[in-house]
Amino acid sequence: MSVDEASRSATAPVVSVVLPMRNESRGLQRLFERLTPALTALGLPYEIITVDDGSTDDTLDKLKAYRATVPGLKVVSLSRNFGKEIAVTAGLGRTSGRVVVLMDSDLQHPPESIPALLEPWTKGYAVVFARRMNFDRGSLARRAFSHGFYKLFDMMSEVKIDRETGDFLAIDRKVVDAFLAMPERNRFNRGLLSWAGFRTTTISVHIEERHAGTSQWGFLKLLRLATNAITSFGTLPLRIWTYIGGVVSAVALLYGAYVILRTLIFGADVPGYPSIIVAVLLSAGVQLIGLGIIGEYLGHVFSEVKRRPLYFVQEAVGFDEPPAHPRA
Ligand code: UDP
Ligand code: MG
Repeated sequence: MSVDEASRSATAPVVSVVLPMRNESRGLQRLFERLTPALTALGLPYEIITVDDGSTDDTLDKLKAYRATVPGLKVVSLSRNFGKEIAVTAGLGRTSGRVVVLMDSDLQHPPESIPALLEPWTKGYAVVFARRMNFDRGSLARRAFSHGFYKLFDMMSEVKIDRETGDFLAIDRKVVDAFLAMPERNRFNRGLLSWAGFRTTTISVHIEERHAGTSQWGFLKLLRLATNAITSFGTLPLRIWTYIGGVVSAVALLYGAYVILRTLIFGADVPGYPSIIVAVLLSAGVQLIGLGIIGEYLGHVFSEVKRRPLYFVQEAVGFDEPPAHPRA
């Protein structure tokens, strides 16, 4: 190890924790009360990178105040609400640890599980997912939605994701770099990670209930995320219309032949209003769905060609400081 490397490793954190936050002010106290001991117990230099994703409460002020008492706490504040996937990307972009632990800030992901999460990493795994071992007690509608989404995603996309894993995971530096090298604007983080590859494993963790406040995912937001995810990771929805069109045309041809034959044999009877209206409505519906799906992809193309930055940082505090040294 060179002198330069040695001095760097003395000041570089080994573990970086990334916490995206939107209006989490009420839960911060509990969060740091549980997170700090869990990190100290690791005995490794660490940093806690919180990303304020355009909170409208006093999350940002509180975070800055907590820097006085929480070792290793750093704060990135985005210029507005960009959504969790982008907030996470912003946080990952600021990490310098050899491994990054990504988790929610509402204590659904127990900080006490961080050592268990890092265990496989020390054995050479590059991505370690926490898998929910307890029953998801979300509302029935939400569970049904998520079930449907994963089924569809599985069918349509080029990558595989485990539906029982969430955004509680440990990511090795080389995967973080790979993740950050993917420039797309429409980001579905778990899809991107899966696409990147690398040695991946899962551990079982008891996922808790949100500690304070409410979940910020309305149905429409979830629907948006789901459509984005599916259309970002495969072109099957786009290509499938060739086949659907083919089947519809074949059926129409057969039916046409049947109608002609019947007319030749039995002569024309009363014009068939029901069959005409059904055929017209069905083909109009099928075409509209096809157009809508092309629109989804066109929307992706549109937002990619604009090449806008993913996010803007309004303020970043604490990034020139050394990490917390639990043994010092
Ligand atoms: N979050 C964020 N930006 C958003 C919405 C949520 O950074 O626009 C954060 C939020 O503060 C939390 C995490 O993402 O730390 C998960 O959000 P939430 O608990 O609302 O989602 P759920 O657990 O219900 O999926
Ligand atoms: Mg939550």
